[in-house]
Amino acid sequence: MAKPVVAIVGRPNVGKSTIFNRVVGERIAIVEDVPGVTRDRIYSKAEWLNKEFNLIDTGGIEIGDEPLLTQMREQAQIAIDEADVIVFMVNGREGVTGADEEVANLLFRTKKPVIIGVNKIDNPDMMDKIYEFYSLGIGEPIAISGSHGLGLGDLLDEVVNQFPEEEEDEYEEDTIRVSVIGRPNVGKSSLVNAVLGEERVIVSNIAGTTRDAVDTPFEKDDQKYVLIDTAGMRKRGKVYESTEKYSVLRALRAIERSDVVLIVIDGEQGIIEQDKKIAGYAHEAGRAVIMVVNKWDAVEKDDKTMALFTENIREQFLFLSYAPILFLSAKTKQRLQHLLPLVNNVADNHNQRIPTHVLNDVIMDAVAMNPTPTDHGKRLRINYVTQVTVAPPTFVLFVNDPELLHFSYKRFLENRLREAFHFEGTPLRIIARKKN
Ligand code: GDP
Ligand code: GDP
Repeated sequence: MAKPVVAIVGRPNVGKSTIFNRVVGERIAIVEDVPGVTRDRIYSKAEWLNKEFNLIDTGGIEIGDEPLLTQMREQAQIAIDEADVIVFMVNGREGVTGADEEVANLLFRTKKPVIIGVNKIDNPDMMDKIYEFYSLGIGEPIAISGSHGLGLGDLLDEVVNQFPEEEEDEYEEDTIRVSVIGRPNVGKSSLVNAVLGEERVIVSNIAGTTRDAVDTPFEKDDQKYVLIDTAGMRKRGKVYESTEKYSVLRALRAIERSDVVLIVIDGEQGIIEQDKKIAGYAHEAGRAVIMVVNKWDAVEKDDKTMALFTENIREQFLFLSYAPILFLSAKTKQRLQHLLPLVNNVADNHNQRIPTHVLNDVIMDAVAMNPTPTDHGKRLRINYVTQVTVAPPTFVLFVNDPELLHFSYKRFLENRLREAFHFEGTPLRIIARKKN
């Protein structure tokens, strides 16, 4: 389910971000444009040998004003906690330093695979520089050059080799996995408790698998759910717990493991940039989304307040126009009863399969209403459409020239699909393929 996580650790200036950009660079260029989402340099999807993973540059996680050594320790700790494979980067030109030894000592204690990459080996003459890194006791050093792109293939081969066996999802297929996401203090724990307080919890918390999430399965009206609780994942007392980027990182794991993401916003405080970033990840991951405006009891309101808040959300989260908005209070349980029915509804929509002939009728009607675009006299021709997968529903248009399917026309087709079918709460993917 969740993709493996690979973390790069090492002291400053060894070339972590250079490697990060090399590995994900192409990806960053091709990701769809999600307005309002700024891309994080520390975290990205990546792919090698057809295996997808998430790459973290821990060097980008700033941890307050702590001294350098403390920062490095914390970053290494995050890697140990969060990653499936750790890439320990060192600088081949400088040889082994005291700080490298510090990091190595921490990494020693983890059972997770650690691969040591000796960077800045820009030409074969420098190969003998890698041998002294055996002394760190981590294993066989791999020579790389981030700036020249050398040795990266070998490094990534080894990374992919070390991925854990794919984890069996421990829940039955008809279970809806729901994550509760949002910045600290918006009321995630309160919401989880309110939902669980109402329902009969049939199994106690399952802590663990390899990810230390807290999953709570429960059942209501013959529907099985599991709540994936990021709030419950807190490890109190750690310095990095308070860092914004770290909490975003945590949210990502939960998002990937879920079918439906509840994005919780604090109705009292309103929307801030971090809310958008988290929401952007849910959108990109292709999960069903519900926006929950919590603490509605504490908001002073008149008959226009809800409409204004809705308008504000729509403006700030343009890319989530499909997500329903639910105003509620975890504290007073006001409107809480609408939450699970809405979850069921968006989960159904997320898994919806449209018969090919019905789909083609809708698209052809759309084309008749608004002719396909032309470019230099060449008109887009759509031969037929088919839905290739669900969760999220993904449609392939077979066309004469995929380049001719402009963003705005794609948007038009998406809107027509949304008008014709029930897709509330789910993103849709539309892909053009060439067919002669
Ligand atoms: P970070 O602090 O570990 O993320 O390191 P950076 O990626 O920012 O790189 C630090 C410096 O090392 C930059 O000036 C890079 O251009 C340089 N650098 C990175 N990789 C290589 C390499 O393979 N060879 C050489 N000669 N320089 C490199
Ligand atoms: P989390 O950090 O997102 O898990 O947030 P918590 O559930 O710990 O809640 C943070 C604070 O907001 C606590 O003081 C809660 O009592 C308060 N809170 C949570 N939900 C509500 C709500 O619906 N209304 C009001 N007025 N306060 C709430």
